[in-house]
Amino acid sequence: MKTLKLLFLTLTLGTTSLSTQATEPTTITAPKQVSGFYQHQVGDLQITALLDGTNFMSPSLFKGIPQQQVHEILKKYYADQEKGIQTSVNAFLVNTGTSLVLVDSGAASCFGSHLGSVLTNLKASGYQPEQVDTILLTHLHPDHVCGISKDGKANFPNATVYVSSDEAGYWLDPKQAAKLPKEKQAGYEGTVKHIKQAIAPYQDKQRFKTYKLGDDIQGFKVINTAGHTPGHFSYELKSKGENVVFIGDIVHSHTVQFDKPETAIEYDIDPKKAVQTRLKQFANFAKNGKTIAAPHLPFPGIGHIYSQDGKSYQWMPIHFKD
Ligand SMILES: [Zn+2]
Repeated sequence: MKTLKLLFLTLTLGTTSLSTQATEPTTITAPKQVSGFYQHQVGDLQITALLDGTNFMSPSLFKGIPQQQVHEILKKYYADQEKGIQTSVNAFLVNTGTSLVLVDSGAASCFGSHLGSVLTNLKASGYQPEQVDTILLTHLHPDHVCGISKDGKANFPNATVYVSSDEAGYWLDPKQAAKLPKEKQAGYEGTVKHIKQAIAPYQDKQRFKTYKLGDDIQGFKVINTAGHTPGHFSYELKSKGENVVFIGDIVHSHTVQFDKPETAIEYDIDPKKAVQTRLKQFANFAKNGKTIAAPHLPFPGIGHIYSQDGKSYQWMPIHFKD
């Protein structure tokens, strides 16, 4: 925990005069924030953004533009580069009126204790995990899938988990590791271990299902946004003429990748395709004014995408509303 050392000045009331007197340094503990959930209405839908925690990313993870330019953009947006770029991990709970759907689930303990608050924040928001009937995963990276289980038990015992058949095929095919370059194999195997542990309790109950393009799950349209991972999908839902898109990891930074959307990130499995997907989807979102819900944009990660020139973009977060 971070502490701030502060020298307290105490005011001492004398009989005739007011004097100041320095005392021993006092430690002020940085207070814990209130629960990380935020509710936002789109049409008749209630979306609850759930904070899993905060990551700090190295600027060197950005690829495809000169590092100097990365640093300039970060400086422009007042991003702390010493500590790493502050990055939220969010999941979204959607109450459609007939179904309670969780889109992505956070990292649980897969990345350390700084993440893993989705379940606590879901309960704090007034829901119970037993009420969730559907889980939509944008892809199977651990910061999206690990939160569905704990120690081999389903965190959402009544939910069916959905992921694209392309994504399941890539991570669950025993022959896949051998197809990768040698230096990528250990990382891949490590990720697969996390995925298998997370999905096992759902597979045991036939509650792990795959879909393909054209399918519709609880009213959510599935959109192929491959690149970041081979079977990455986004989900779009419509209510009363408003559209909301749960975009997943087509973007990781509200600064560098909005200013220069052609910038890839180290985590992209196919960086070229990931960039093409972002360029195509950003243009579509900006043109059609869609509401966006993103796992790695600053919490609550809900807002709109604006472009003046069709080349660079701006993130317009929703305003806090009580
Ligand atoms: Zn992610």
